[in-house]
Amino acid sequence: MKWLMRLWIALPLITILISGHIWWSHSAIFRPIAQVSFLNVDQGDATLIQTDTGQRVLVDCGDIDGPILTRLQEQLGFLARRIDMLIVTHGHRDHYGGCFDVLERYQVGAVMINGVRKEEGSLYEGFLAAVTEREIQILPGLAGTEIDLGQQRLEILHPTNQHWGDEISNDNEFSIVVAGFGDENTFVLMGDAYTSNEHEIMRRYPELRADILKVGHHGSDTSTSQEWLNHIQPDIAIISAGHDNRHGHPHTEVIERLTSQKITIKETKHLTNIDILW
Ligand SMILES: [Zn+2]
Repeated sequence: MKWLMRLWIALPLITILISGHIWWSHSAIFRPIAQVSFLNVDQGDATLIQTDTGQRVLVDCGDIDGPILTRLQEQLGFLARRIDMLIVTHGHRDHYGGCFDVLERYQVGAVMINGVRKEEGSLYEGFLAAVTEREIQILPGLAGTEIDLGQQRLEILHPTNQHWGDEISNDNEFSIVVAGFGDENTFVLMGDAYTSNEHEIMRRYPELRADILKVGHHGSDTSTSQEWLNHIQPDIAIISAGHDNRHGHPHTEVIERLTSQKITIKETKHLTNIDILW
């Protein structure tokens, strides 16, 4: 029976070690690495960017009542309470709905928005009020803005025109587009930007290439044109869309364009989180 006693004593220890290992391997608290993580938030978008100095930028939070806090905990550990910057690409619920939870749990250093307003009393205006209430700095997301993160750098590629304070109900075309330049890889996050926006970016950034492209508008055929793929030449395309979503995302035309160019497709709905070194 002695072995049984030993097992009883050893079991809690093993449990602690195992859970400690899981926590350690999923957290960047002690050993920050530069990586970009595409989080599975079912319907919507959420991307966590981390630098090798431990800075954290979250781009979108998925929809309201989504799993954003669970996904962030998987990445940062349960003790983390800091997000240095939150970028909300535009004012659609599948991008900012989960940000209410993020504001509750984390101390957010600054919030970047596209400046479009929604009608008074809307959920989005409620989100902006929640940001203001916490006295969090609000930054305009406009093309040309650079965010220096040491070894890594973010640059806002879009939108280019000044529409700050305008009331626009469908602001997909004013999505903040984020490019990340690191030692390992370059990535571009399209938000819900359209093909017309891709053309604007191509004109403004003729030399732009990216290893990883998070395709626009959840793989809808409103986005990810052949010209854009030829221009940006990605190796990996990330698609963030929920199972059986009502818009039929991703669209077959987009999948065909990506596969014909031999671009590896990774979909958040098939994986918990997609981590790629940056
Ligand atoms: Zn969307």
